Amino acid sequence: MHEFEIIKNYFAAHSFKRADTILSIGDDAAIISVPANHWLSITTDTLISNVHFPAQTPPQAIGYKSLAVNLSDLAAMGAHASWVTLALTLPQPDEAWIKAFCEGFFTLTDQFNVQLIGGDLTKGPLSITVQAMGLLPQGMGLLRKNAKPGDLIYVTGTLGDAGAALRNLQVNLGISEVFSAFIRHRLDYPTPRLKEGEALLPIAHAAIDVSDGLIADLGHILEASKVGAKINVDHLPLSEALQTLNKEQALAYALTSGDDYELCFTIPAEKRVQLESTFSTLSTQITCIGEITQQLGLTLHYQNGQPYHGTKTGYQHF
Ligand code: ADP
Ligand code: MG
Repeated sequence: MHEFEIIKNYFAAHSFKRADTILSIGDDAAIISVPANHWLSITTDTLISNVHFPAQTPPQAIGYKSLAVNLSDLAAMGAHASWVTLALTLPQPDEAWIKAFCEGFFTLTDQFNVQLIGGDLTKGPLSITVQAMGLLPQGMGLLRKNAKPGDLIYVTGTLGDAGAALRNLQVNLGISEVFSAFIRHRLDYPTPRLKEGEALLPIAHAAIDVSDGLIADLGHILEASKVGAKINVDHLPLSEALQTLNKEQALAYALTSGDDYELCFTIPAEKRVQLESTFSTLSTQITCIGEITQQLGLTLHYQNGQPYHGTKTGYQHF
């Protein structure tokens, strides 16, 4: 198959079309219509084999995850995901691989009404770059720099599952088969918290998605907002799977391992009731894990007040 056939058969063939897409795949560039009184929020992320996913990851999961991590960035801005482009570099035009990749990719575009409007296809070592575009009501957006002393710090879902799954591929952590499958799914198929991000837009001060680990990512909010934080490690939300590990090990995954793509956000304390009623209708778990402090730095403690002295470093590429 040639480049243009692949694009036509696999990428242009997917029929979903948004009303605000003027021109999609097939011309030199796409054209989209940004509604009045809105801003366009844009993000891009590249996934490289053996860096962002283990080489043995099924192509379906690679397709899903390359989109999910980008949509997660839009979620962390509170943006409404609308369009994506895809730059794909493949060692060879393996049709079965492309078909499976597309299955994973388009599962997620369809789930969130996001349209693939263009991209690029080249030959080389496997690499996937997605650009995602979303809409924000003018003047809105969940920035890292807006956390305030006294804010409550929350996270969605559970933390540490993806990190434990990655480790579980290298050494047997002694997790049951059912729980191993559960955390592996969390690693390969993270849920972009788009509905949650949009719901947070009028409530939260600051937000970030947890891609490199809670300590590292919350650290970005603290630095940008010039504040500190206190975290109660006994409040970290752990899945049933992680609860079967020894507690210190589970806490280390929850604090320092990435790839969960949950949202970490801060709200003014007086919006707690509004937040909790909003999320009870979304049926997404949220957990208050601490608060923002005027005093700089991050302090971690147990419920009984004892300081936490475990590992604290997240994932860094360099
Ligand atoms: P050009 O040479 O003008 O860059 P290309 O041959 O790269 O054009 O692409 C032709 C059309 O196909 C463009 O509209 C481009 O956006 C689209 N396209 C190319 N690769 C992909 C892909 N992997 N997914 C979606 N659209 C793609
Ligand atoms: Mg091109």
